[in-house]
Amino acid sequence: MALVVQKYGGTSVASVEKIRRVAEHIVATKKKKNDVIAVVSAMAGETDRLVALATEVMDPPDEREFDVITSSGEQVSSGLLAMTVKALGEDSVSFQGHQIRIITDNIYSSAKIKSIDDRNIRLALGKKKAVVVAGFQGVDDDGNLTTLGRGGSDLTAVALAAVMGADACELYKDDVDGVYTTDPGVCPDARKLSRISYDEMLEMASLGSKVLQARAVEFAKKFKVPIHVKSTPRPENEGTWVLDEEKVMESMEKVINHGIKNSL
Ligand code: ADP
Ligand code: ASP
Ligand code: MG
Repeated sequence: MALVVQKYGGTSVASVEKIRRVAEHIVATKKKKNDVIAVVSAMAGETDRLVALATEVMDPPDEREFDVITSSGEQVSSGLLAMTVKALGEDSVSFQGHQIRIITDNIYSSAKIKSIDDRNIRLALGKKKAVVVAGFQGVDDDGNLTTLGRGGSDLTAVALAAVMGADACELYKDDVDGVYTTDPGVCPDARKLSRISYDEMLEMASLGSKVLQARAVEFAKKFKVPIHVKSTPRPENEGTWVLDEEKVMESMEKVINHGIKNSL
């Protein structure tokens, strides 16, 4: 029995059909005797729409209310996903950030996670439910809603994997099947990497690549959470591992030794 955290980004839950495909994958993962915690982003384009709405009313927007508004996209996608899993015959429950006490500092729009209360999640998993968590959201010590910065669902997933001691932290993408040497949407010659170190990934993020949120990679490095970037439409594909430098070297040595043995 393994505990798997699976994060699905906005393009993976962009429509009811796509949510159904994600729900089917969650059900299939559960049927293989795994506990599943799925973290979801807002449906593609939704956070941008909410940002534009808020800014239309007040520019620059009131910081507290901005997070109330922008965190709402994940409430919708998490409810839709839990409902779809139930419609497929597996029990499921969604949690918003405040319902599992994802406590953050009070820096609106780029809040840092301080702690997570895992009790409600463990109770739900104990009742064989697929747990769906709204990404991107937190709550400060005074109960104000906060958000974790753009792309912040990645951070929700990594932090949950760390707190829950998960066996895997899988970040699913709809339009790429892993991390490439450069953005494959821009550069057709980009090569998919089977593994990359946290530091190399951070460097890529600092150069502007938004494939993974930099803060999520920093958190993963600090708490030694291996990240597995995978494809939503092709979950059977190998994907890309984001790991400690040492682990990257170890697995490269294994590949090299295996290659040498095979050629002897
Ligand atoms: P999600 O919504 O699942 O979080 P994102 O849209 O944030 O996914 O990230 C995936 C996008 O990142 C892809 O559309 C891809 O074009 C872009 N991207 C930029 N740099 C890279 C890279 N080095 N490898 C893979 N994808 C990249
Ligand atoms: N919905 C938020 C955003 O668009 C968080 C996320 O997608 O991870 O930035
Ligand atoms: Mg993203």
